[in-house]
Amino acid sequence: MADAHILENVVCPFCGCLCDDLRLTIENDVIVQCERGCALGKAKFLHYREDRMLSSTLRQGSSQIEISLETAIDHAARILVEARRPLIYGLSSTENDAHREAYRLAEYIGAVVDNTSSVCHGPSIIGTQASGEPMASLAEVRNRADLVIYWGANPLYAHPRHVNRFVRAPGEYIRDPKAERQMWVVDVRESVTSRIANRSLIITPGSDLEVIGTLRALVRGHTVDVASVGGVSLDTLCELANAMKRAKYGVLFYGLGLTQSRGRHNNIDAAIRLVQDLNSFTKWSMLPMRGHYNVTGANKTSTWTTGYPYAVDYSRGYPRYQPGEYTAVDLLRRREVDALLNVAADPAAHFPRDAIRGLKSIPIINLDPKRNLTSLIASVNIPTAIAGIECDGAVARMDGLPLYLKKIVEPPEGILPDREVLRMIFDRVKEVSDN
Ligand code: SF4
Repeated sequence: MADAHILENVVCPFCGCLCDDLRLTIENDVIVQCERGCALGKAKFLHYREDRMLSSTLRQGSSQIEISLETAIDHAARILVEARRPLIYGLSSTENDAHREAYRLAEYIGAVVDNTSSVCHGPSIIGTQASGEPMASLAEVRNRADLVIYWGANPLYAHPRHVNRFVRAPGEYIRDPKAERQMWVVDVRESVTSRIANRSLIITPGSDLEVIGTLRALVRGHTVDVASVGGVSLDTLCELANAMKRAKYGVLFYGLGLTQSRGRHNNIDAAIRLVQDLNSFTKWSMLPMRGHYNVTGANKTSTWTTGYPYAVDYSRGYPRYQPGEYTAVDLLRRREVDALLNVAADPAAHFPRDAIRGLKSIPIINLDPKRNLTSLIASVNIPTAIAGIECDGAVARMDGLPLYLKKIVEPPEGILPDREVLRMIFDRVKEVSDN
């Protein structure tokens, strides 16, 4: 008879919601069923054995030849020791102990260490450094919020359970969320999320800053002498400003539509100031819709360890922070780095074309459980265990709540967690540089 058991309250290591209520059925050390997860979470748990890299590889010409883990570690260490300006990048889809090893290695070899927030919510971080961080927990949202706004975000696609778990779910003070909690969506086009919202505002692309500025003026009681802003009539904006002031507890969730559109960190700065203005009348908070499941953790561990959340340069022996200077895309575009250690990310799939040209011109050491575009161009691939499935570790939810990922099944034979591979690279780098 098959050895079967059920695990309750499993944390899903896919998106920043980190849903912690999943139920998995495991038979003969294989996950065979996933309940309560969304399509993305189920795909992660039920297809974890597909497209795996099962052996380390070394690139020779146009082919990848299989090598032992020890040989791969040695190649990786030599690439890093010989590099004059190495870059360590990724980290958002792995757990916090792997981050610690990456920062230790970055400090030792004088590397730049950057995480994927430099291409997603980096502007949010710059905005909060300028104006503060009016955060709330997701539990507070569910228990108290009577007005929720999604701005430049489409959670039904990117965070499929966000609405159901935190907005449409009853809470301590919101017993009937459909009747007592309003949901508005502000975006540049209609989306699946806007279709289920109480109200939807379609704004002109790139006009977020003007719209937020107008809302600030209206909230403060100024007269605005125009018929429309950002393609939205002044009457509608007045309606939104009044709804925001009337709310007992409002929350603004914002996504890449706000951080990566024209204005970038200025949009976030303005949105924070809008929330601060609203707090003169009632209670408001705002939260970024973080994508990778531990990108929030990557910012936290980077800040704890280096003093800065991303884009950290150790080339002078101490950490320096400069988004735009030490961010991965900018370094690659300017051809400033001569080696990349990529951990749990796929820059070849997501970076702009001129940064990918930079990627292709340097040796890449790639740590990832699965084959991806970066693995195809990497000089050395080292497969690793999937955090939250094949190894445990601490992570942080989009609101900063720390959660612990469980080890559910054994990894394939010889496959180690990112943290152990990074530790081995660090030890070998020390040996090579001492000699
Ligand atoms: S919403 Fe995100 S964390 Fe929750 S089950 Fe879906 S993918 Fe996983």
